[in-house]
Amino acid sequence: MQYYSLNHKAPRVLFKEAVIKGLAPDNGLYFPSEIVSFDDSFFVDILDMSHVEIAFNVIKPYVGDDIPDAVLKDILKDVLDFDFPVVEIKENIYALELYHGPTLAFKDVGARFMARCLGYFNEKNAQKEEVTVLVATSGDTGGAVASGFYEVPGVEVVILYPSGKVSEIQEKQLTTMGKNISAIEVEGTFDDCQAMVKKAFLDGDFKGKRRLTSANSINVARWLPQMFYYFFTYKTLKKHNKEIVFSVPSGNYGNICAGMMAQKMGLPIAHFVTGTNANNTVPHYLKAGDYITKPSVATISNAMDVGAPSNFIRIQEIYNNDITFIRLNLSGYSFTDDETRNVMQYLFKEYNYISDPHGAIGYAALEKYVAARQQEFIGVFLETAHPVKFLDVLPLSLKKEVQIPESIQQILNKKKSAKRIAAYSELKTFLLK
Ligand SMILES: *Cc1c(COP(=O)(O)O)cnc(C)c1O
Repeated sequence: MQYYSLNHKAPRVLFKEAVIKGLAPDNGLYFPSEIVSFDDSFFVDILDMSHVEIAFNVIKPYVGDDIPDAVLKDILKDVLDFDFPVVEIKENIYALELYHGPTLAFKDVGARFMARCLGYFNEKNAQKEEVTVLVATSGDTGGAVASGFYEVPGVEVVILYPSGKVSEIQEKQLTTMGKNISAIEVEGTFDDCQAMVKKAFLDGDFKGKRRLTSANSINVARWLPQMFYYFFTYKTLKKHNKEIVFSVPSGNYGNICAGMMAQKMGLPIAHFVTGTNANNTVPHYLKAGDYITKPSVATISNAMDVGAPSNFIRIQEIYNNDITFIRLNLSGYSFTDDETRNVMQYLFKEYNYISDPHGAIGYAALEKYVAARQQEFIGVFLETAHPVKFLDVLPLSLKKEVQIPESIQQILNKKKSAKRIAAYSELKTFLLK
């Protein structure tokens, strides 16, 4: 499989190079030159396949020959060694819980897959050139990347996070690993962290000294494995024989865009719904037709505090840049923090379900979509993080109900280690040392 740059000014590359580079040399996102489609028999056979078998069939065409089948299967076995429960909330409404991985975030799958691919490529690389993964996080990405890349040979990881703006658990997850994982605490906002990362990627002074790559969802190895969730859910719900609508709480639009890829591959998905917080660039676009990016504003669903979603350009590519097609497949709604808290309380009171702020937005968006429709279908909202990671913003009634998992308990007792910086020059000195 070849990948082209969405800026169309860089050569096509194979999977391996797209993963190592992250972004194309013309700063465009890589996109697969072909979206493979399955025939009907695949969607019958899927009932007898394990998660690893499904994932292998889905990802194989995009990896091509860059990783041998046996290695790819081993990688997937390792990446997918936890559950993806589809929990019934009420008739025709389900939560797809994606938070049963090692850092309790859906990003675990993409981060682990990318880490293991890079690890494999490095092992095969005769020069044993080190790669440095440089990543900015508003909370959840950091922990998933730290855990996914821990002790991966040949890979150094440097994670930037905004001081005082991630939850205590999230901070511990990314500052207590040690070994090849370094945490940088930035005196500033998430946007400041991201700006520093961008500056580093464009900084010529690293040439020959540090090979930098990104582990954000712009990297195809983090983005594409998210297709698995949609296939797994289809397998689970097929017996009901109803159309499925997915509601995805979105920030950078990598997760929902992977769902749209799955749909293009033939997976029967009737419609997508995107829920956002006050950072409503996409719902506004769907409504008004103009795409206006903005600086992000802080909310209680902080993993979605994104004013300029990096993957939306991939969605436009899937639908030929035609807003009519996009609107046929995607509806969007945005919610305030107060509305989000109310929904969390409602879900607990009515259905005894404890959601996190992101999942609650997914549920709320789904209900808005359902309310405007007559026909019957199954609605699935993605629960993207464990509520324990957002304890400080949960309504009191829920807070006392959340059980702290053993793995988190252990992390809370560890000592934080991070380098504090305020300016790009300090990051540069750190990377060049
Ligand atoms: C990253 C994240 C999201 C947003 O996912 P995108 O792929 O960036 O749209 C939603 N919820 C949680 C908990 C996240 O960590």
